[in-house]
Amino acid sequence: MNEIQITATQLNYYLICKRKVWLFSHQINMEHTSEVVELGKVIHENSYAREKKEVSIGPIKIDFIGSDGVVREIKKSAKMEKAHIWQLKYYLYYLKKKGVENVTGELVYPKTRQKTKVELNDRDLSKIEQILKEIRDIIGQEAIPPVIDKPRCKSCSYYELCYI
Ligand code: SF4
Repeated sequence: MNEIQITATQLNYYLICKRKVWLFSHQINMEHTSEVVELGKVIHENSYAREKKEVSIGPIKIDFIGSDGVVREIKKSAKMEKAHIWQLKYYLYYLKKKGVENVTGELVYPKTRQKTKVELNDRDLSKIEQILKEIRDIIGQEAIPPVIDKPRCKSCSYYELCYI
């Protein structure tokens, strides 16, 4: 039996909140109701607009691969940087699985002109395998995970669904 393909968005959501990845993976989508998400989309669409090379490979969609071998991911703010770093590491992991070696990553925050370099090491490989397994387990469970009651909930597109 084929394993469920996990997208980078699912991995990102898993690191933010298990309930969020469950909701998203069960096609419960409220992205359009969140102004924060809208702002993120505008920044995303206008950054690197002239030289943008969005690439889809299997379940991953990479914002930009430069001729310098750097995979760039554009983000609105560095508030959730840990999740962004792992999302980018997942791209590098996936490319490696496809035989693409010697690529590194860079997170780009156009609003603050901040850049963060991201690399994949051997320990990351097993951590990503573990994360993917846990995501599949969460998606497969019938019960929705509980609300996490954290400050990050206020900017989550599922806020109304979880709290109102
Ligand atoms: S509002 Fe909070 S609990 Fe609900 S999905 Fe978002 S992050 Fe998770």
